[in-house]
Amino acid sequence: MQTIRGTKDILPNEIQDWQKLYTEALKILNLYNYHEIRTPIIEPTELFTKGIGHTTDIINKEMYSFIDQSNRNITLRPEGTASIARAFISNKLYKTSNIQRLWYMGPMFRYERPQNGRQRQFHQIGIECIGSNSPMADIEVIKIAHIILQKLKCPKYKIEINSIGNQKEREKYKQVLINYIEKYKDEIDIDSKKRLYTNPLRILDSKNINTQKILKDAPCISQYLEKESKENFELVCEHLHLLKIPYLVNRRLVRGLDYYNYTAFEIINQNLDNKQTICGGGRYDNLIQKLGGPNTPGVGWAIGIERLILLINKNKKNISKEARFYIITQGSKAKKKAWDLIHLLEINNIKFHLDLSSSSFQKQIKKANKNNTKGCLILGDQEIDNNTITIKWLHEYYQETILYTNIIKYLQIKSKIQI
Ligand code: ATP
Ligand code: MG
Repeated sequence: MQTIRGTKDILPNEIQDWQKLYTEALKILNLYNYHEIRTPIIEPTELFTKGIGHTTDIINKEMYSFIDQSNRNITLRPEGTASIARAFISNKLYKTSNIQRLWYMGPMFRYERPQNGRQRQFHQIGIECIGSNSPMADIEVIKIAHIILQKLKCPKYKIEINSIGNQKEREKYKQVLINYIEKYKDEIDIDSKKRLYTNPLRILDSKNINTQKILKDAPCISQYLEKESKENFELVCEHLHLLKIPYLVNRRLVRGLDYYNYTAFEIINQNLDNKQTICGGGRYDNLIQKLGGPNTPGVGWAIGIERLILLINKNKKNISKEARFYIITQGSKAKKKAWDLIHLLEINNIKFHLDLSSSSFQKQIKKANKNNTKGCLILGDQEIDNNTITIKWLHEYYQETILYTNIIKYLQIKSKIQI
């Protein structure tokens, strides 16, 4: 049996990368006072149609939706922000604190054409800073994304940023953009044609070369931004500069989801063969109210974990796993004593691996050699009778038999393990 197309097992030899990512991110997010939140993977379909918007790819083509036994319309979440906004409202989080700094990590589902770095079940880590309309919040979240990527030694990325203004400014711009593109209606790609009257901003995102050529002379949203939008954006840029966070203003950058306003940004991998977005984010001041909550602004981002790990691993030299001690026993008394040894190793934080076979010493030692082993801890009849234990150092090619009661001290001295 195979996994469903576009889904993958994450195997034990890959999981180290995931655990590292979680641990490093957790440290940084703790420092910045962000709190983890876990929401259900299934949500009412309406949450996403209302929140993300009817004219987006996610809603039109990519949703995993189904009707359950009680005739409810259910969707496997395609992204995190709408669920967090829902949780913020349904748990009345606004009552506990003016500002909610939240983060999440988990699987998302989108029915897309699978390819390298694009799956149908993929994972995101994301943050949301809810409750502030200060551009300082925009800067904080961008800074955190940058620090996490730095900490994980993510190579060659570029932060692109834009302001897509507020709704009023965008409506004005949309009309101007439609007027411009209408002149080239028959030359643009089919997808863009479909979007012309429903979601013209998304045409700016088109990958079609011909459409991009036409867009070269298209009017820019920056021309339609009013004082407040302009000042906010300038402040964000000024502070990024101050923080020495490299960024690039991309006037064509719009985000795929309807709920964004003002700051929008993406972090893009610069590798020539595979230019994919690692992180997408921005400000969403109307989402929470649109979903029935109090008028509350927010800003956040999501990083695609698979894409990030692919990128990190391209640059990573093989790190060897930490070696452990291999416990070898023979005879029923030795097997019982193994539990006492394990207890000692456990309380002293020394990593081990218990051989579960009843095969000969030689065979067990052979297996120890295949595993990532520092040395073998051997308990046989002789050791039991004399209250000793034999340590066979596999890399140094020698063995010693010592008093069993000295084992921990011995291991600590020999392998320089600090208590
Ligand atoms: P793209 O343009 O590549 O489809 P997107 O704009 O749809 O990306 P977002 O909705 O902004 O992506 O999601 C944030 C991040 O999640 C992306 O930058 C990417 O790293 C990751 N991501 C999105 N869709 C997928 C997918 N199908 N498989 C793997 N990662 C994904
Ligand atoms: Mg997409």
